[in-house]
Amino acid sequence: MQPHNLSFEAALSGRVDEMVDACTRCGKCVEACPSVKPAGIADAAPVDVIGGILDILRAGQGAEASRKWAQACTLSGECITACDEGVNPRFLLAMARVAMAKAKDDLPARRRQALEKYRDVGREVTVLSQLQLNDEVLTRLGQKAAAVNVASEPPDFVFYTGCNVLKTPHMALLALDIMDTLGIGYQVMGGPSHCCGIVHMRPGDVEMSGRLGTNSIDKMSQSKSGQVISWCPSCYVQFTETTLPAIERQRGRRPFEMTPFLRFLAQRIEQLTPHLRERVPLRVALHRHPGVSGVMEAAVEILSAIPGMTLVDLKQPALGLQGVYLNVLPEFKRELTRNELEAARDAGIDALVTVYHSEHRELCAHERDWPFRIVNLLELVGESMGLKQHDRYKELKLMQDADQIVADCADLLAAHALDAAKAREVVVKGMLADQPLPLRG
Ligand code: SF4
Ligand code: SF4
Repeated sequence: MQPHNLSFEAALSGRVDEMVDACTRCGKCVEACPSVKPAGIADAAPVDVIGGILDILRAGQGAEASRKWAQACTLSGECITACDEGVNPRFLLAMARVAMAKAKDDLPARRRQALEKYRDVGREVTVLSQLQLNDEVLTRLGQKAAAVNVASEPPDFVFYTGCNVLKTPHMALLALDIMDTLGIGYQVMGGPSHCCGIVHMRPGDVEMSGRLGTNSIDKMSQSKSGQVISWCPSCYVQFTETTLPAIERQRGRRPFEMTPFLRFLAQRIEQLTPHLRERVPLRVALHRHPGVSGVMEAAVEILSAIPGMTLVDLKQPALGLQGVYLNVLPEFKRELTRNELEAARDAGIDALVTVYHSEHRELCAHERDWPFRIVNLLELVGESMGLKQHDRYKELKLMQDADQIVADCADLLAAHALDAAKAREVVVKGMLADQPLPLRG
C-alpha cells in the first residue's frame, strides 16, 4: 500500500506489528517497571508478563498478570530506557489497553464512552477556566475567538497548552509572560478545540482519536521554526509516541518537532539567567514525575539558576507521567503523597514545588495542613523575573466549600452566562473531589 493510502489505524497497527516483531521477550522492561510491585504481579515471571502483552496485541486476550500490568502503567518510562531493542514498551502497553477495550465493547459503545469523557473534560476545562478568567485573558490563552482565528503570518513557534492546564491558568500565563520577556514569538493553541485525541484513544476509538489528533496537528504545523512547544506531558506523549509517528508513516514526513516547555527554557538558560534578577531566598523541594525525559533535569537546572534559592532533595521515589497517572494505583499514590508531605515537613522546607498542572491541582489545598507552601515552579521563576500571576485555583480550592467558591466567582459567572448550578457541579466533581489524598480533618 502507498503511504498516502494508509489510514491512521493501519499506520498505527503497522508500527505495533514492527515492535511486536522486534521484541525478544527478554523481560527487562517488566523488571525495570516501578508499577509491577504495587500492582501485585511481582511474582509473575517478567518473560511471561511481556509475552502476555504480545498476546493481547495480537488477539486482544492475554494472561491476567499482563492485563494487570497494562492497567497499572503510570507512564514513568523506565521501560523505554531498559529496552535494548528500540521497542517502546510504554507505547505497546497503551496499545494493549486499546486492544483490551476493543475486545470488551463494540465500536458504538466505545465511541459513546469516549464522547462522554470528551464532553466531561471539555465542560470541566471550560467552566473552571471561565470561573477564573475574563474573555481577554481566555483569548490570550488561545480560547474564545482565538480558538478559530487563523494568524495572518505564521508565528515563530506554536505554544500548545493542551486542555487541562486551563484549569490552573496561572501556569500557562506565566509561561507566556516568560516567553514575552525573552522575546520569543508564539501563537497559543490548545483547549478542547485542539484535542490531542487521547480521550478517544483510551476507550479504543482509534479512528476518532486519529481524526482529532491529525486535525490539531495540521493546525499546529504552521510555524516558521517547525517547532511546537508543549506544556502538557500527556499531550506530549500522545503526539510524539502515537499520533506523529503514525502520521509520519501516512505522509512520509513528520509535520513538526515537539519540545516540552521546561526543556525549551533550559535550552535557553543563558538567555533566561540575566532576567532572574530578584533573590528568592527559599528552601524548596521539587515534586517530581519523570515520564518525559529531561524535563525534571530541566526543572532542577532552572530552579538552581534562581538567586538565593536552595533546592532540597527529599529522597522520595519519583514515578508517573504526571500526578493524575498514579490514579491507577490509588493506595500506592496516597502512600507516596503522605510520605512526601511528611518528608517535606521534616526537612523544614518553605515550599514544595510542582511542575505539571495535575499534581498542582491535587496537592495545592494540602498547603492548609502543612507548614510549607505548595507552589508551581513557574511562580518561582516569575518571582525572580518580576512576573506575577495569581494562583486563583488554589485560592478557590482552599475555601473547600462549593457554594462559597461559586459565590466568589459571581462576576465571571455572569460575564460568561454560566449556569450557577452546573458550575457548582463542576466545582464539586472537578475541583474538590480532585483530592487523591484527603485533606486532614
Ligand atoms: S511506562 Fe513506566 S509504568 Fe508503564 S510499563 Fe513502562 S516502566 Fe512501567
Ligand atoms: S525490554 Fe524490549 S525487547 Fe525486552 S521484553 Fe521489553 S519490549 Fe521486549
